[in-house]
This record gives sequence, structure tokens and C-alpha cells, in this order.
Amino acid sequence: MAATPMDFLRLALDEARKCTPSPTAFCVGSVLTATYPPGSAKPVILARGYSRELPGNTHAEANALTKARQLTEAQLLELFPDASPPLSIDTILSHADIYTTMEPCSIRTSGLAPCADAVIAAGIKRCFIGVGEPDDFVNCEGARKLKDAGVEVIWLSGMEKECLDVARMGRE
Ligand SMILES: [Zn+2]
Repeated sequence: MAATPMDFLRLALDEARKCTPSPTAFCVGSVLTATYPPGSAKPVILARGYSRELPGNTHAEANALTKARQLTEAQLLELFPDASPPLSIDTILSHADIYTTMEPCSIRTSGLAPCADAVIAAGIKRCFIGVGEPDDFVNCEGARKLKDAGVEVIWLSGMEKECLDVARMGRE
């Protein structure tokens, strides 16, 4: 059975549930998939990430990208057996989609690059989003920023409440 975008969003939500709840930050999960070589039948999961998974006040989308870049060529060949070496993660990322439970951030006050910028810089084609970022902390313009840079933004409907409830885990 081919995985649907909602299946990948559900996996991203599983990642979000791994976050250590925080009163001052959202709990977000992200899954990075790639269809490679282009035209392959099935997207393959490259990496997953969640908020604060990597040291520092890190975000889900950036963490998934960092983890994808840590894959060795041998690991990439295992993930993409039909691709011929040399395989570069940059090329694969240009055929990748990112799923995130919440709209990628457009502003960071911590000094780290916003996730929208990281997604754009990686050359990712499509961004599937579970729910928009509410204005709890900052006014988020991530989706607009992505679209302006030519990334296709797809709002998935049906899991907004779950995505938001998990995002706000630390703040009841
Ligand atoms: Zn972010």
C-alpha cells in the first residue's frame, strides 16, 4: 500500500509526541521523504526530527535536515537501491518533500536560522503542513516565505486539532 501524505503527517505527529514539553516553545515533529531517482514509485523516509531533539533550542524541520545530512553514502545507497553512485544528499534533497505538524517558522529570536530558510536553502520541492502556527510567540510567515521562494506549500486538512494539541503539550 502506497503511503499517503496523511500517513507521513501521522508519522510526523509521532515525532512531535517525543518532544520534551516546554511552556515557552511548541512541540513539533517532521518527516523528510525523497523520491529518488526521480520517477521512482515510492517516497522513502530520509530522516525524522522533533523540537529540541538535537542539542540547543532546535526545531523539528531543521533537525530532520541535519540528520539527513549525517547519512553516509552507504546508508543512502541502502535507502535508494535503484540509484547509482555517487549519491549526494544535496541532490536527493532537491527531490525531497518535508512534512511538518506545524508551519515552519519564519523568525527565530535565538539566533538559529528559521526553518523556512533551511527548507528553502536545501532546495526542497514541497512542504506539507498539519496546522498553521498560532500567534502564541511570534507572527509566523513561514508558509508565505516558502511560497515566495518557489516551494509548493500543501496544507493537509483533518489533523489540525491533534497537531495543535501536541504542539502546546507543555502549556495547559
Ligand atoms: Zn523552526
